[in-house]
Amino acid sequence: MPLSSYRGRFAPSPTGSLHFGSLVAAVGSFLDAKQHNGSWLVRIEDLDQPRCVIGAADDILRTLEAFGLYWDETVIYQSTRTGAYAAALHQLQESTVAYPCGCTRREIADSSQQGIDGQIYPGTCRQGLPSGRSARAWRVRTGDYPVGFSDVLHGFLSQNLQQEIGDFVVKRADGLYAYQLAVVVDDAFQGITQVVRGSDLQLSTPRQIYLQRLLQLASPHYMHLPVALNSAGEKLGKQTRAPAVTTDQIVQTLYGILQFLHQQPPVELLQGSAAEVLAWAVKHWQLDRLRGAPLQASISRS
Ligand code: GLU
Repeated sequence: MPLSSYRGRFAPSPTGSLHFGSLVAAVGSFLDAKQHNGSWLVRIEDLDQPRCVIGAADDILRTLEAFGLYWDETVIYQSTRTGAYAAALHQLQESTVAYPCGCTRREIADSSQQGIDGQIYPGTCRQGLPSGRSARAWRVRTGDYPVGFSDVLHGFLSQNLQQEIGDFVVKRADGLYAYQLAVVVDDAFQGITQVVRGSDLQLSTPRQIYLQRLLQLASPHYMHLPVALNSAGEKLGKQTRAPAVTTDQIVQTLYGILQFLHQQPPVELLQGSAAEVLAWAVKHWQLDRLRGAPLQASISRS
């Protein structure tokens, strides 16, 4: 029974099985929640159906269970939540901060500058759709001022959304709601107080905080963990064909994750069970060991 108001989550996209890198986010968010006597929730981010792989969500949940990472409340699936995203978009439309955009991908590519996370939308439809154009996507108007947050591990970080990101998409031309909108709506819906995830998402956090402000939602605390790289220095993921974690070496894998997270697990743990490794890790979870760690790190083989 959770004793505190801490509510954390793990939010995998079911585009394949869990690999070492995604399990790092699962274990890190679990340990931080459990060490605070908090709740740990799982949300399946299956909004982008064309990218989802059939069976991957069940496979992810079975893997979490096999590793002893039990969630506290019913798993939610983004594919069932489009009504909530539509309501949030409606709210943004009402306040005119969201505007329709008729530009094609090609037009944007031809006329925009590169920003820190893709192209900066040049603002073509900002003052209204040019005549003869119909809405393809919906964008949110960004402001020319910094939007910041204090990362639990990395301190204060901020972005000028207008200059560094540009007006960003909240509903895509293919009719799907964008990740940035869905994640904000769902973190609020699930009452998440602490987001612990990979540092590849750190660039997204100011956009999420901006949307929370526009939608009058509370902002959780954010902590971004190092992202695991393969021996070629690439982020582990589907594109880099990261191998799925297998359930025949659970203790060794958990041990490797604790090492990756600088937790200095004693070697005797390798003789124990997965439950014993996790119990040790919850008890000894020390964020200070991670402070100042680089945003990306290679997996060391123990
Ligand atoms: N679904 C996202 C991913 O798998 C994570 C979203 C988040 O943690 O905010 O990369």
